[in-house]
Amino acid sequence: MSLAVYPGSFDPITNGHLDIVQRALKAFDRIIIAVAVNPGKEGLFSVPERVSLLHDLYAEDDRVEIDSFSGLLVNYLRKRNAAAVVRGLRAVSDFEYEFQMANMNRKLYGKAETFFLMTGNDYFYVSSSLVKEVSKLGGCVTGLVPESVRQALEDKLGGVK
Ligand code: ADP
Repeated sequence: MSLAVYPGSFDPITNGHLDIVQRALKAFDRIIIAVAVNPGKEGLFSVPERVSLLHDLYAEDDRVEIDSFSGLLVNYLRKRNAAAVVRGLRAVSDFEYEFQMANMNRKLYGKAETFFLMTGNDYFYVSSSLVKEVSKLGGCVTGLVPESVRQALEDKLGGVK
């Protein structure tokens, strides 16, 4: 049974993230979407809120587990006995950071490999931060995030169409 961890902030989850999960499920039997707790970076949504949105989205799919972790990703991988990390690539701009992280993680824990999946054409410009920015300014994010997330953004920020 192959298992991969898809770590990230997911603040909030977008259709770009969902696309990566669907692609990863072609290669792995099970995916753990792991929300990283970052004490230095307060998000728009709290970690329990992000986890709850994810739980609702994947309630029907027992191949996908939702969890959160704090501290080093490699310690979480050890704890879950996972040897694969999935990350998404949108553009060249993602590459440098992802390259550094993957190499650092490899140095810290040689038993795991990072697998990069390319986003679908419809989502290469979608990021959680841009979605939040557009929502804050009253723009429409329908089609970029699941409906439950659009609703949650509206509840949080008010006045979103
Ligand atoms: P982090 O703060 O760890 O980058 P994110 O939630 O922003 O967390 O992203 C998690 C992962 O998902 C990263 O590998 C990122 O490149 C990828 N990702 C984010 N948005 C998209 C998208 N639209 N298409 C493909 N991959 C994406």
